[in-house]
Amino acid sequence: MATRRSARPARTERPGLPIRFGYLTETADDGSSADAAPRQLKTSELVAQRIVAGIVDDRLQVGDRLPAEAEMLQQYEVSRESLREGLRLLEVQGLVAIKRGPGGGPVVTSIDPRNLARTSTLYYHLAGATYNELFDAWLLFEPAVVRQVTESVERPEKRRVLGPFLPEYDTERTRFMSRSTGFHEAIANLSGNRVLSLMLRSLSHIVVEHIVRDLDPMAEQDEIIDDHAEIGRAMIEGRAQRAQKLMADHIGHLVSFYREQFPDRMDDYVQWR
Ligand SMILES: [Zn+2]
Repeated sequence: MATRRSARPARTERPGLPIRFGYLTETADDGSSADAAPRQLKTSELVAQRIVAGIVDDRLQVGDRLPAEAEMLQQYEVSRESLREGLRLLEVQGLVAIKRGPGGGPVVTSIDPRNLARTSTLYYHLAGATYNELFDAWLLFEPAVVRQVTESVERPEKRRVLGPFLPEYDTERTRFMSRSTGFHEAIANLSGNRVLSLMLRSLSHIVVEHIVRDLDPMAEQDEIIDDHAEIGRAMIEGRAQRAQKLMADHIGHLVSFYREQFPDRMDDYVQWR
């Protein structure tokens, strides 16, 4: 395999809104840093929080209906306007779907990392974060998850989940998954850590939607398939350090390729979408 990582272009400073960590600076009874404290939530946001708590407490599943409006108005003791605004907030976050018309109403939807990705990109954009920074974060993050999965997941489970990405484990060609995102999703889910999984999947989603989608789908496919097979093997064999390094090389290679393809985009703000 050829030498992979090409030199990083020098980073140019792009301005963005200042990042403020309100929770770390809230103190001051004298009000000196009062503006750094998080703002009070509006009634509609408090209602949204209680609706979410209700979804969790009642163990509602995807597709389940929320209680009828009249029932929720009574339960939460808020105005119709606040209730509807609260539901709308959850709808925007993709956590409920509101079916309009007769027989409609709010329905629970699935936890979709794409919604987390969309919200993240709004913050990245306003903070002035660039695609270079996004890639650097990915490069740090996913190899570490690979190491954790390699060390902590039982071998049969790794074999079951990663086997389909290894040609020798699955001779049935139609079942052999070559698509690159599937491999990375499988690793994210194997971590068994929902925080890692959601963060990693939202990050991958941004890379795929903002960069990979504009490339020839067959570009680098052979190399990607080979890389995935090699990483998967190392993970199944429990060779954590090797798996971590292979994943770092793999992502490093992809990132170099993206940087070559779209040199002008790399210092752009991550777009909100
Ligand atoms: Zn890959």
